[in-house]
Amino acid sequence: MIEFSSEILDILDEAKFVKTYTVKKPDNFNFKAGQHCLIATDATSFRPITISSSDNDNKIDFTIKKNGNTTSSIFELNKGHPIKIRGPMGRAINPESKQVIFISGGTGITPFISYFRSKDKVLDLSKLEFKLITSYQNKNDYLYKTELKELTSQINLKIINFLSKEELDGFEFGRINMDKLKNNLTKSEINSGEFYICGPPAMVKDIKNNLLELGVNEDTIKGY
Ligand SMILES: Cc1cc2nc3c(=O)[nH]c(=O)nc-3n(C[C@H](O)[C@H](O)[C@H](O)COP(=O)(O)OP(=O)(O)OC[C@H]3O[C@@H](n4cnc5c(N)ncnc54)[C@H](O)[C@@H]3O)c2cc1C
Repeated sequence: MIEFSSEILDILDEAKFVKTYTVKKPDNFNFKAGQHCLIATDATSFRPITISSSDNDNKIDFTIKKNGNTTSSIFELNKGHPIKIRGPMGRAINPESKQVIFISGGTGITPFISYFRSKDKVLDLSKLEFKLITSYQNKNDYLYKTELKELTSQINLKIINFLSKEELDGFEFGRINMDKLKNNLTKSEINSGEFYICGPPAMVKDIKNNLLELGVNEDTIKGY
């Protein structure tokens, strides 16, 4: 882990309260998809944010939802502004099973998009079967829509999207729960898949418990 002062190179609006900040990457900074950093606008208020860009890029992206004090102060910054970063830290995504199931809540999709962006579609991903189960409150919160759609034509990826506050065609309605997991997972995925869950801590805990009740082996569940 290193601590450094970086500079915002670009800012992209992703959704109403979500922006991607591209920052300069120092030469001695190396990470693996799935890892996060601590970022701050001052010397004290460091907050964990996952890197959403590829681990091969020469810059770093953070996709940030405006939440409380620190993330709100990041939203006030413009291009060229300095930002403090510590990292990388946390678990890298490194599937060992053929069937890989990613389950995300809101910006919890960031480690998974970083993983897809980091890997060679043919060399690294062609032998794996992916299922991505996302959940958002509303359709307008949905992140990386075009990129994910394109991925479904490049690799073996099935995407199931949940909206908890809006009933719309093409989306499952409500929160992800035990019944919904049961309906959307195959027996083979339950028995031999590898699960990664990222989202609000309560969601990660509930979904992990649901998976355990469905018979998933605890060793194959990785929570963030
Ligand atoms: C490993 C990890 C990776 C993460 N990756 C990402 C990511 O890629 N993108 C992302 O957007 N987020 C990510 N998060 C979440 C992110 O870290 C939080 O949103 C962030 O820490 C919030 O900091 P803040 O200073 O903006 O909010 P805080 O000021 O800390 O507030 C957080 C929430 O608590 C409420 N709150 C604060 N103080 C009180 C109080 N006294 N009483 C009641 N409620 C209060 C606020 O209203 C707000 O809703 C990640 C978290 C972890 C643990």
